[in-house]
Amino acid sequence: CGIVGYIGYKDAKEILLSGLEKLEYRGYDSAGIAVRDAQDVKVFKEKGRIADLRKIVDEKISTVTGIGHTRWATHGVPSRENAHPHQSQSGRFTLVHNGVIENYEQLTKDYLFDVPLKSDTDTEVIVQLIELFASEGLETEAAFRKTLQLLKGSYAIGLLDREDPDTIFAAKNKSPLLVGLGEGFNVIASDAMAMIQVTDQFVELMDKEVVLLTNEKVIIENLNGEEIKRAPYTAELDA
Ligand code: GLU
Repeated sequence: CGIVGYIGYKDAKEILLSGLEKLEYRGYDSAGIAVRDAQDVKVFKEKGRIADLRKIVDEKISTVTGIGHTRWATHGVPSRENAHPHQSQSGRFTLVHNGVIENYEQLTKDYLFDVPLKSDTDTEVIVQLIELFASEGLETEAAFRKTLQLLKGSYAIGLLDREDPDTIFAAKNKSPLLVGLGEGFNVIASDAMAMIQVTDQFVELMDKEVVLLTNEKVIIENLNGEEIKRAPYTAELDA
C-alpha cells in the first residue's frame, strides 16, 4: 500500500498512475486517484490492479493536481466503495490514507452520528471529521489539525479541498511519508521510488507532522501549527 500526490504544472494523472505502479511492490488490493480540473475534484477508483484503474481514468481530463492510493484493506473488504480516495458528505474534501485508525468506531459515535457513511473503512471518519469541523467554521488547515489530534493509530494522509485548488494537505504518523521538492511543483510519496522520475530532492517527515504543498512552496508544521524547517536530501535510485 502507499500514497502519492502531485501539485504543479504537468499532467497529474499520469504522474500519479506511474507513481502508484512504482509502489505496487508494497502490495495492494485496490487503487484510486483524485484529480482536479478547473471545476471540480474527480475520483477514479477500482478493485484490482493499477492496470484496471488506468482503464477507467478519463484520458481527456487535464489536471495539474491530484492524490493517489494503493489499498491494503484493514477495515472493510476490498471493493470499489471501500477503495480510496474517500470523499466527505458534501464532496468538498477528498482523502487518501494508509494505516489504521484504531478509534474510528468511537469517533463515529462521538461526532458522526448524523453522517451517513458511504464505506466500511476506518479511513472515512477522517474525511468526514474534517468536513464537520470545517462546517463549524474552521479553516481547512485547522480542521485537519483538529481531526489529526483526535486520531489514534497510524496514518499517511493526502487531502484535497475543492474550495482551495492551490493546496495539497498531508500528514504522517507511524506510516512512511516523504515530501519531494521540484521547480514549479511539489509531491508527496510513501517511498521516494514513486516520484524519483520527477525529483530526487526529498524531505523526511516525522510523526505528527502536517504539510501544506503548493506548486511553489512546502510548509511543514506540527499539530499545533508551529512551522518546522528541515533540509532536503538527495535520493539515489538503486538500479
Ligand atoms: N485502513 C485503511 C483501509 O482499510 C487503509 C489501508 C491501507 O493502508 O491501505 O482502507
